Amino acid sequence: MGLTLAIVGRPNVGKSTLFNRLIGKRQALVDDQPGVTRDRRYGEGRIGPFRFRVTDTAGFEEAKGDTLEARMREQTERAVEEADLVLFLIDAREGVTSMDQHFLRWLRKQHRPIVLVANKSESKASFAGLGEAHRLGLGEPIPVSAEHGQGLDLLLDAIRDKL
Ligand code: GDP
Ligand code: MG
Repeated sequence: MGLTLAIVGRPNVGKSTLFNRLIGKRQALVDDQPGVTRDRRYGEGRIGPFRFRVTDTAGFEEAKGDTLEARMREQTERAVEEADLVLFLIDAREGVTSMDQHFLRWLRKQHRPIVLVANKSESKASFAGLGEAHRLGLGEPIPVSAEHGQGLDLLLDAIRDKL
């Protein structure tokens, strides 16, 4: 299998929901509680005719009593290492949080192409967050709703632009 994408971001932004959407199955466990994804999960993803390997990550919510920096590395370093391209998710309704920024500082050092995905964009509550996301300097954020299956065609275009 050629291309590998990793889905990364802080807890609760909808990584597992997007993963499930891309693989078309209820494979990863999704919950309101952060920390539900216990391992990295692999799946065969698909957007229309475009096929790829995709990795869901736990974010960095798992290891307790450690520094944020260390947890980030522990949970996602290998997934990012293995990836040809990283989908960096934020919650568009919440905008860019300090945890997003902290995560992104680390992610930028990993030297992988990054597509900025603004999830939970199904409502007007996401507009301000999209503006904030734009200012991260990762290009146009891609508004999607993993839950409602919206924006996947835009996401595919953005992925192709980065490859
Ligand atoms: P993860 O911790 O990043 O893996 O996030 P999850 O996929 O577990 O999702 C966290 C919460 O956000 C769950 O309650 C999801 O149902 C919800 N969620 C995920 N995607 C969307 C979306 O596009 N819109 C809205 N409104 N909620 C979403
Ligand atoms: Mg998850």
